[in-house]
Amino acid sequence: MTTRTNKLAWLEAELADLREQGRYTTIRTLDSPQGPWLIVDGKRALNFCSNNYLGLANHPRLVAAAKAAMDRYGVGPGAVRTIAGTMTLHNELERKLAEFKGAEAAVTFQSGFTANAGAIPALVGDNDLVISDRLNHASIIDGVRLTKAARAIYEHCDPESLREVLEENYGRYQRIFIITDGVFSMDGDIAPLDRIVELAEEFNAITIVDDAHGEGVLGRGGRGIVDHFGLHGRVDVEIGTMSKAFGVVGGVVAGSKVLIEWLKQRGRPFLFSSAMTVPDVAACIAAVELLAESTELVDRLWANARYFQAEMRRLGFDLGRTQTPITPVILGDERLTQQFSRRLYEEGVFATAITFPTVPKGLARIRVMLSAAHSQEDLDQGLEIFGRVGRELGVVG
Ligand SMILES: *Cc1c(COP(=O)(O)O)cnc(C)c1O
Repeated sequence: MTTRTNKLAWLEAELADLREQGRYTTIRTLDSPQGPWLIVDGKRALNFCSNNYLGLANHPRLVAAAKAAMDRYGVGPGAVRTIAGTMTLHNELERKLAEFKGAEAAVTFQSGFTANAGAIPALVGDNDLVISDRLNHASIIDGVRLTKAARAIYEHCDPESLREVLEENYGRYQRIFIITDGVFSMDGDIAPLDRIVELAEEFNAITIVDDAHGEGVLGRGGRGIVDHFGLHGRVDVEIGTMSKAFGVVGGVVAGSKVLIEWLKQRGRPFLFSSAMTVPDVAACIAAVELLAESTELVDRLWANARYFQAEMRRLGFDLGRTQTPITPVILGDERLTQQFSRRLYEEGVFATAITFPTVPKGLARIRVMLSAAHSQEDLDQGLEIFGRVGRELGVVG
């Protein structure tokens, strides 16, 4: 008998379930570069969604660098670097990233996600303990899942809770690792890395920080969270991405020479997945050079963020505990938030609703991502529309 059954039929039921719960993600289509304005599903809209903090995703200098590199080196890396050899470009980017971050050395990965999935299991052994902030990013969680180590959680950004976990477990494991996001992407708050490092030093624990939303944003000229707190040489492993403020794509781990040498021997996405492509690497080099030359873009990002957030609070919106240009507009109710986002889009503002399970139930929000690329008129127009939709839906008076 050869009746063909649909063996994946259960997925249809699961998808219907997602739709019913308002948890189905509809992906909008862009027909423009990333910039302050986008063509979203055929309609021009103000962009409040991207992590393109500095406007580099479509910066002429990055585009020119990518084109020039392709003329010289082509597009692809050929194979993994340990087999096909490494291009001078990748080495140059790693040197420049290390220098920018004030670290001894750096190694690139294909993305921030694979940097975590590579670095964490390469370092954490079976007899170790990993202590994570309760709200760490999915790529950290998955990186930890790839280890056989014991796991513990401390309360979000709470050094006292971390101390309790350390006291409880000290001496029971071969090594203890503390892992945290630098800036938390859904709330915009900053990990108390100074206190975390002090505790790590007291309890002889190894620190890993994922600074995806801090690079190009925090510290002098966007040098990141380690620079923000003046902790150079005291954070053991710095993980990052080039997909946010740097405007391109790619991951990075920075730290001591011995750490980087080890990751090139044992980081599985380094050993078993091909390197960043030529145009990506060249564009990233241009991004780092641009940031090293001038603080202008970072300064403008912060000026935009301060202005927009002050005006939003004046309108009566709840921005939670943000300390960075990430601007959560907390509305609470899931359906209200979806409706708010839809109304913003109709009025020409692209700002996505973020709901459970990405954030806890009852804390649904619109997340506004500000950029150095926004002009004063862009911000004022966004504020006017937020105020209007907020009054219409009874969120603000
Ligand atoms: C965005 C993000 C990542 C993933 O970075 P990609 O380069 O896009 O893979 C990893 N960690 C944190 C904390 C992030 O916010």
